[in-house]
Amino acid sequence: MSGLFDLTGRVALVTGSSRGIGNALARGLAGAGATVVLNGLSGQRLSDAAALLEGEFPGRVFSRAFDVTDARAVAGGVGWINDEVGPLDILVNNAGVQHRVPMLELAVEDWERVLAGDLTSAFLVGREAARGMIGRGRGKIINIGSVQAELARPTIAPYVAAKGGLRNLTRAMTAEWAGSGLQINSVAPGYIHTEMTQNLVDDEAFNGWILGRTPAARWGTVEDLVGPVVWLASDGANFVNGQTIFIDGGMTVVV
Ligand code: NAP
Repeated sequence: MSGLFDLTGRVALVTGSSRGIGNALARGLAGAGATVVLNGLSGQRLSDAAALLEGEFPGRVFSRAFDVTDARAVAGGVGWINDEVGPLDILVNNAGVQHRVPMLELAVEDWERVLAGDLTSAFLVGREAARGMIGRGRGKIINIGSVQAELARPTIAPYVAAKGGLRNLTRAMTAEWAGSGLQINSVAPGYIHTEMTQNLVDDEAFNGWILGRTPAARWGTVEDLVGPVVWLASDGANFVNGQTIFIDGGMTVVV
């Protein structure tokens, strides 16, 4: 791998990496040389995922369960990484939640839970990570957005609001921290074929809509997201600031 994209010696935290997209991103960052810290809520799922990855990258995989929506837990988790693993160089704010219901039936508790899971979490973990990064004069924060940062759909109002907010939070972090040597950007995936979306892939009507709506005429894969995240985490992206990069097969550039 070209030295520009080599992450050897860097410490990376990927929130929500016990499964799904976050797990694939952690594997990708480890593949590029980083020492990775996995995170999730469920301790058992997290230790299983860490054991699996440790087999591929011995000595470079750690895990820490904490709730990214809880400010005290976040401070404890990030503090543990800085003390026990090493100074945090790369943060991927990936943990997220979804809740599908028409807006007229949406309970305020569910609105707040999704905003906390998809937006407040990035502020909390980003703020805690940035404290150390600013002192060291370097760091990478990558917020995992969505095509819903740009496009709305019925029944997912809090998710659309949160991902739109995350796009602007990426800009706000840039406004305050880029001058201290940090690069903060967002990777916004389109429709990704995962365990979670298998039911949508199996739904003939929905699958047909996705294939027709996406210029690349296919679903994305978790591997499609790895290259952009490794690039943004590397010295190859040292002058890329505040951007949201859609990895969506072209969905957001056509009607
Ligand atoms: P997923 O499979 O549902 O996994 C969610 C992960 O987040 C799990 O590791 C979960 O931990 C963790 N998590 C949830 N709430 C948490 C909390 N409060 N504190 C700590 N960890 C928490 O999700 P995904 O589909 O891979 O999505 C990952 C990200 O990509 C999200 O931000 C999502 O919005 C975005 N995205 C996904 C798609 C897609 O097609 N899937 C498309 C666009 C964007 P546990 O295992 O312990 O529950």
